[in-house]
Amino acid sequence: MKYDQYYAHGAFSDCTGDITFSVFNPATEALESVVQASSEKDLAAAIQSAERAYRSWSTTALEVRKAALTRLAAALESRTQQIVDSLAREIGCPVWLGELMQVPMAMKGIQFALEGMDQISWTETIGNGLVERVGAGIVGAITPWNFPLHQIVAKVAPAIAAGCAVVLKPSELAPGAAQQFMLAVHDADIPAGVVNMVWGDAALGEALVKHPSVTHVSFTGSTAVGKRIMVDAATELKRVTLELGGKSAVVILDDADLEAALTAALRMSVVNSGQACVSQSRLIVPQAQMAEVKQRLRQLVDTWKMGDPLDKATRLGPLASKRQFERVSSMVDKAMSEGATLIASGNGQVNAEAGGWFYPPTVLGNVRPDMEIAQEEVFGPVLAVMSYQTDDEALALANATRYGLSGAVWSGSAVRATEFARQMRTGQVVINGAAQNLATPFGGRGESGIGRENGRFGIEDLLEYKSLHGAQQ
Ligand code: NAD
Repeated sequence: MKYDQYYAHGAFSDCTGDITFSVFNPATEALESVVQASSEKDLAAAIQSAERAYRSWSTTALEVRKAALTRLAAALESRTQQIVDSLAREIGCPVWLGELMQVPMAMKGIQFALEGMDQISWTETIGNGLVERVGAGIVGAITPWNFPLHQIVAKVAPAIAAGCAVVLKPSELAPGAAQQFMLAVHDADIPAGVVNMVWGDAALGEALVKHPSVTHVSFTGSTAVGKRIMVDAATELKRVTLELGGKSAVVILDDADLEAALTAALRMSVVNSGQACVSQSRLIVPQAQMAEVKQRLRQLVDTWKMGDPLDKATRLGPLASKRQFERVSSMVDKAMSEGATLIASGNGQVNAEAGGWFYPPTVLGNVRPDMEIAQEEVFGPVLAVMSYQTDDEALALANATRYGLSGAVWSGSAVRATEFARQMRTGQVVINGAAQNLATPFGGRGESGIGRENGRFGIEDLLEYKSLHGAQQ
């Protein structure tokens, strides 16, 4: 596939940048897609388009914005198959996961933005003052490759709802989902300029962040880049939403249903090949149950069949890129050299001759909290197991990283688990495997980020208060 057009003023135009990016199929290592970068001139056109649209879109009736989101949902849903296929070919995401998680999460993102609009007090009267909530302006949205459609929707849907205009720079490593999203924007007749898109890498992302017309930067990606963006945004006091990395812990208390907890913990550490910001990559278990934990994990690992992501029977695809493969391999090697032991490992390469960046689900024991594997995001199907003697020790271990994005706790008593969850320093905690509710605020503490997305919270993140003294309606 070739992706060589940016989107501005409600139309696709040829990119005029002079670099291209190659996307390789991670299951075969063959060239899959080529992305032609946008130039700074293209970026300027996209920003001018957004500025023009913002003037009128920011004052549209809520019903008009809702109608736009409703049309967008229908247009996006009709592209499900193309999206699922591109996710498999470009990032190795198995089709079952594309169909059951990647696309549905995005669809829920639009649905909850629509519902969120009804939960916001858009105006309030205080004495002679009319307080209005208005869209913060031009949003520069920068997204990663691991849940590429969901992350785009998590920024663009609330921006449409808030009355903002957006310039999106999606990941250059997963262009298919972004292209399908923009085609849906076009099909849905979203008014020209409300949503714009440019192709590029870090350099164009940086230019977008620094552009004086961008008033709010909404970024999802690594903590290192997030910090850099915050510094760049600070020079003009731009507002930021930063959804960054994580090192989330799942804590199993001594009265938990071990089989249910371990099944879910392994799933949450290896699904999407561990390439999820909310990946539960640390498992904290009672010392007395360690032998049983190891034995069960050895059996569970084998249920994660690796293979061709386009095959419906495949549960685990390859890592998304050679770079990811090298990163994961070197972090596991380093952990082993520091004293970690291999508790369990799935089967290796599916077919060594066919190539592909397949990394088997891997469970490591003997992990100390000061090791890199216990502190840093692996972004691979690797679970680091640690043990504790008391609940206080378990809590200290859970809170002992610079991140604070997600986590989980398991107990025979939901009340006990809830009490424990309250003490975990993190943006969300899943209690006893509950479904994650995408209408609730999503975001991190510590170095996992600033701000919240999803539902009304994502919209409120993009709103400013405005006071009109003596207003007449
Ligand atoms: P990344 O930080 O390398 O890149 C993310 C995006 O930022 C890409 O579009 C990239 O082109 C752009 N970019 C890179 N440098 C930039 C700069 N200096 N200025 C502006 N833009 C720049 O991240 P990635 O490898 O694409 O994604 C993986 C990371 O994303 C992981 O750390 C993961 O935890 C994180 N993530 C977080 C969440 C969340 O909601 N908290 C969700 C998914 C992924």
